[in-house]
Amino acid sequence: MAPDKNAILWHYPKSQHTNGKHTVSMARTQNGDVLLVDGAAHALTSEWADFLRAQFPFTAPIPVLSRDRTIGVGDRLGIAAPGHIAAIRGYDATPVLVQQSMRELNLTGRGWQDILDAGTFMTLREGYEDGFGADGDHLKQEKDIRDVLSRGFTMVTLDCSDHITPDDGQDRVSQDMADRYLGRTFALDQGHSIVFTRGELSEANNIYGKALAFAAHVWRTFWEEGKAKADFELSIDETALPTTPVQHFFIASELTRRGVRMATVAPRFCGEFQKGIDYIGDINQFEREIAVHAAIARHFGYKLSIHSGSDKFSIFPLVGKYTQGRYHLKTAGTSWLEAMRLIASRDPALYRQAHAWALARVDEARQYYHVKLDMARVPDIADFADSDLPALFDQEDPRQFIHITYGIMLKNPALRDALYKAWADMTTSQQDPYADALKAHIGRHLSTLGVPHKKEQA
Ligand code: ZN
Repeated sequence: MAPDKNAILWHYPKSQHTNGKHTVSMARTQNGDVLLVDGAAHALTSEWADFLRAQFPFTAPIPVLSRDRTIGVGDRLGIAAPGHIAAIRGYDATPVLVQQSMRELNLTGRGWQDILDAGTFMTLREGYEDGFGADGDHLKQEKDIRDVLSRGFTMVTLDCSDHITPDDGQDRVSQDMADRYLGRTFALDQGHSIVFTRGELSEANNIYGKALAFAAHVWRTFWEEGKAKADFELSIDETALPTTPVQHFFIASELTRRGVRMATVAPRFCGEFQKGIDYIGDINQFEREIAVHAAIARHFGYKLSIHSGSDKFSIFPLVGKYTQGRYHLKTAGTSWLEAMRLIASRDPALYRQAHAWALARVDEARQYYHVKLDMARVPDIADFADSDLPALFDQEDPRQFIHITYGIMLKNPALRDALYKAWADMTTSQQDPYADALKAHIGRHLSTLGVPHKKEQA
C-alpha cells in the first residue's frame, strides 16, 4: 500500500494555541505543513489564514515602526520565517516578517496574499506573539498601494525614484521657498545644523520637487485624516546620486509642511550598498553623514530606514550608535543566499545544476538588479570539489551572482520543485538546518547593530 502523504509526520510544539473557542496547531505531512483546527487538518489556504488572523490576533501584522528597532526580513521563498523568528526572539527588536517588493513578487511568482498568509502561518507555527509588520516594499503605483492596504499590510514603502529628476541648473526657487530656507540656520541635536546656499536649495528643488508632489499626493489619497493605519515609509534610495544632508532636510521639511507624516525615510547614503555583501565606500564619510541624517530624522520625528541592509557589517555599529538605537533595517537577499549555501553543502549535484542554469541566463538577471558583479571573478565550479562549493558563499562576486539570479532559478519549474524538495527534506522534527543558519546569520546582523538582548520574561 502506498504511504499516506497526508499522514502527520510531526507536530510543531510551539504552534498549539487555544482561545476558548478554538484550538489550533500545525503539523508536517509529506505534502507539507497543515493546520489543525479543533482536530481537523486543513491545507494552508487564505481562508484559514483569515480565520487565524481573526481568532488569534498575534498572527496578524501590526504597525511596528514606532518601536525603536525594527528589522525587515524578506522571505522570498516562504520558508525563512522560522529562522528569522529564531534569530530575533532573543533580541529587543521587532521583525517585519512580511516584506517584498513588486520586483521580488514578479521574480518569485508569488502574490501579496501568499506572502501575508505565509507570515500568519509561520507566526502560529513558531508561537511568536510579540508582533510583526507586513511591508509592501518599494511600491511605485497607487494601484499597488491600494491593493496591499486592502489586504491588511501594515507598512507601505513608497518609492519615489521615478519622480526624481536630474538638476538642469535652472533656478525655479520661488520667493516663498527662498524665505523658508535661505539666510537661516536650522539647529539639530548633537550640535548639528543645516544651512542652505541658493545653489543647494535650487538643486534640491529641481531633483526632488516632483517626487515631493507625488509623495504628498499619495499621502492625501491614502493616509490623510487617519484613513490608512499603516506606517508610511518614504524611499529615495534607488537613485544614482547620494542624498546629501541638506537635501534630506529639504525633503523632510517640505513634506512635513504639507502634512505628510513619515514613520521612516530611506535616503540614498554615500558609498555603495551592493546586494548581499558588505558596505563599499569611505566609512569615515559615511559616519559623518549618518550622524547628520539621524539628527534630521529625530528633528522631524521619524526613524532612518537602511535599505539593502544585508551583510553591511562594517557600518552596522555606526547605524546603531548615531541613530541612538532607533532605526529600521531591511534585508532579504542574504536569507536567500543562506538557503542556497545549504543546497551547496547538502546537495552538491543540485547546486551545480542551479548554478549552471543561472550562469547561462545571468544577463537577463542583470536587467532586474544593478550590481557590480564581475563574472570573471565567479570561478568555474567544474574545478571545485563538492566540499568546496559552500565556500563560494564567502566571496563577493559569487554571492552577487547567486543573489540576483533567484528569479531565474525559481522560474524553472523543475528546478524550483527540486530546490523546495531539498529544503523540505533536510528538515526533520528534530533538525531545521535553514532555521539554524538564519538564526546565526541574522543574529550576527542584530549583534553587530548592537541590539540589546531581550530581558527575560518573568
Ligand atoms: Zn530600497
